[in-house]
Order: sequence, then C-alpha cells, then structure tokens
Amino acid sequence: MPKLIENKEKKFSLFLNSDRCGGCFACIAICPTGILEISDELNYRNAYIPKIKEGKEKYCFGCRRCEYCCPDWCIYVLDEEIIQTEKVKT
Ligand code: SF4
Ligand code: SF4
Repeated sequence: MPKLIENKEKKFSLFLNSDRCGGCFACIAICPTGILEISDELNYRNAYIPKIKEGKEKYCFGCRRCEYCCPDWCIYVLDEEIIQTEKVKT
C-alpha cells in the first residue's frame, strides 16, 4: 500500500490506496493543514489522486479527518504499533 507519510516521531503513517480513490478531493478540502493537493496521476478509475505537497509531510499530525471523510475508504492513518502487529501476522 503506498505510504504517503511516515512520521517516526509521532509513530504513525498515512496511506493511500490509490486504485480505490474516486478523486472527489474531499480529503484535500478537509485537511486542516492544507498539505494535500491534486496530483497529475490518473488511477484505473480515471480519477486524479491526491498527493502531499512537496516538503509539507511534517505538518501532518495524524488527525484522521481525511480518513473519516473519504467516501471510498482509501486514505487512512495507521499507528506504528498496528503496522508492526500486521507485519507480525503476515
Ligand atoms: S477523499 Fe478519498 S476518494 Fe476522495 S480524493 Fe481523497 S482519497 Fe480520493
Ligand atoms: S491526517 Fe489530518 S493533517 Fe494529516 S493529511 Fe489527513 S487531514 Fe491532513
């Protein structure tokens, strides 16, 4: 799964399942730090997917607003602890 951000200090990562994204840009509109923008990458749904603005990764604080508003459940935050648990399982 493409990882958009890995915050080692706060121990979380932001993921985007780019193939599921419908390109509604709700995540871009709702992000309180304004770090998301439209990319020029089209997915198989013919949607332009979001990306992180260059150099702005550090401003993501894992608030999950993007995750909660996404109608396609394809952008989400995972805590490092959960990621490690999933790795152990696989
Ligand atoms: S809210 Fe979800 S479906 Fe809409 S652009 Fe963002 S990631 Fe894609
Ligand atoms: S977790 Fe919060 S700060 Fe980070 S990209 Fe999503 S809405 Fe923006």
